[in-house]
Amino acid sequence: MTEQHYVIIGNGPAGNEATRHLRENDPECRITVVAADRLPYIPRYNLFRVLDGVEDWRELLAHPPEYYEEMRITLRRNTLVTSVDTGRKMIGLKHKEWLPYDKLLVASGGGGYLPEDLRDYRGLIHPFGSFEDAVRLKQDLPEAGQVVMLGGDMMGIYLGQKLIQLGYRVTLITDVHLFWPHKLGERDPTPYYHALEKAGFDLVNGKKVVRIEQGEAGLSPRRVICEDESVYTADVVLGCYGLMPKLDFMAHAGLDVQRGLLCTPELQTSDENIWAAGDVCQIWSPEENQYRVSYEWNSVKNMGRVAAINMAGGHEVINTFSEGDVGLDEHGNLTSPFWDFD
Ligand SMILES: Cc1cc2nc3c(=O)[nH]c(=O)nc-3n(C[C@H](O)[C@H](O)[C@H](O)COP(=O)(O)OP(=O)(O)OC[C@H]3O[C@@H](n4cnc5c(N)ncnc54)[C@H](O)[C@@H]3O)c2cc1C
Repeated sequence: MTEQHYVIIGNGPAGNEATRHLRENDPECRITVVAADRLPYIPRYNLFRVLDGVEDWRELLAHPPEYYEEMRITLRRNTLVTSVDTGRKMIGLKHKEWLPYDKLLVASGGGGYLPEDLRDYRGLIHPFGSFEDAVRLKQDLPEAGQVVMLGGDMMGIYLGQKLIQLGYRVTLITDVHLFWPHKLGERDPTPYYHALEKAGFDLVNGKKVVRIEQGEAGLSPRRVICEDESVYTADVVLGCYGLMPKLDFMAHAGLDVQRGLLCTPELQTSDENIWAAGDVCQIWSPEENQYRVSYEWNSVKNMGRVAAINMAGGHEVINTFSEGDVGLDEHGNLTSPFWDFD
């Protein structure tokens, strides 16, 4: 077999796990990881340590810097993929370079979703997806500062709990994304609201946010305005409305896309040389006759593993569709498989 060049778009848990298994399953191959991040792979849950006061990003890395050299992985950081040419088997980079591949893994993850009517206010909402975001959040929060969290997805609730433990005040203005990607369905929400209050959230239910404004000099930096004209002031506003797959660069590639990149249970897309893994993909479930997504940390890692094995010629299938649910423990505290990392 001639040396294969595997190119992976994304250095999150899916892409990272894939590199390890590609090296194991095809020891002689070439691996190139292209990622928009400025820094090497930092697992998202390590970002919370920035709030504890960790300032040096090196302490948060999943692997020591020499890992990539030892594994013979070319890591191209700070590099944005803008297109995929499936005919020529090349990816286009923002700085106009074309990079050829034999087999491509798309593991570009998802970005924070914002409802259409709040998109104009994106600049007033703090993201929390990178080391730089975490540093900015910490810098912009004074001691015992006020956070207004919108939506209330499971990632946000986890972050909110952390902020409350650190002495910040968190007001949560909920909407249909509360507990996303879980759904309460027909369940009585009351004990779940109590659990949030017990964790220290100031809960605001049933109000629609219509505007976010920059506060005037000397006053709170942010004002969140609801439809009934009530105003919530904050040092920082967090948008926690779930994730949206990042796929702009695939727009003209001609692959089957719905919300995410559609793929088989072997994680192959509609192109025979392209696989997908992680938050970016929707996987066919033959049992349910529909496409499924899974955003849990461990299942995202598993997708990276399965995609790598199959890119190297294997035939493993994903069958982990038990997506878990939000629940309550015997003390009335929230539980979720979304908060299990390893
Ligand atoms: C703030 C936050 C908190 C979270 N907390 C939890 C949690 O508590 N529990 C849990 O189970 N899950 C959590 N998640 C979700 C979890 O992070 C994701 O499921 C997981 O990170 C997805 O991994 P991934 O590898 O698919 O994508 P990501 O981790 O999103 O990585 C995507 C990679 O693709 C790169 N990329 C994207 N577009 C391009 C492009 N055009 N060109 C080059 N590179 C590109 C990015 O730079 C990055 O390297 C959280 C997510 C966020 C944002």
